[in-house]
Amino acid sequence: MSSAVYAGSFDPITNGHVAIIRSGLVAFDRIIVAVLTNTTKQPLFSVDERVEMIRDALDDDPRVEVDRFDHGLLTDYARGKGVDVILRGLRAAGDFEHELQMANMNRQLGPGIETVFISAGDYFFVSSTLVKEAASLGGDVKGVVPALVEKKLRDKFAR
Ligand code: ADP
Repeated sequence: MSSAVYAGSFDPITNGHVAIIRSGLVAFDRIIVAVLTNTTKQPLFSVDERVEMIRDALDDDPRVEVDRFDHGLLTDYARGKGVDVILRGLRAAGDFEHELQMANMNRQLGPGIETVFISAGDYFFVSSTLVKEAASLGGDVKGVVPALVEKKLRDKFAR
């Protein structure tokens, strides 16, 4: 069975992330969504909330495993899971340089583990950061995030 690890902060998951996971499922039998728990930025949502929103967005698809990734190298995490592919999404050209550096660094750190990129589709302009900013200002983020995320953002920023 072919598997890939898709890691990120998912604070919160957006339709861009969902699109990458769905595309990933065309190429891989199973995707492990690894939620980074120790981001340097103060997250808006707790890890439990982030996991809940990911599960809900993917309708509890049995091909998707939602896990936490607490510390250490992503390559070690992947190896521990018996997976040798890291899945990443590419948005604008601005992502490219940093992603390429990370992919090459990860190849150095974890020989035998490869990064596979999937290009963003219609949601190329969406980022968790922008979504939070828009929602905090009272903007309507319907259509760019899953329904449960939209609701939770409304609750967080209710005034
Ligand atoms: P961010 O906080 O920037 O939204 P994450 O750290 O959660 O992102 O990102 C995890 C992965 O998802 C990265 O490979 C990132 O490039 C990708 N990604 C994020 N948003 C999108 C999008 N709108 N379309 C495609 N890929 C995306």
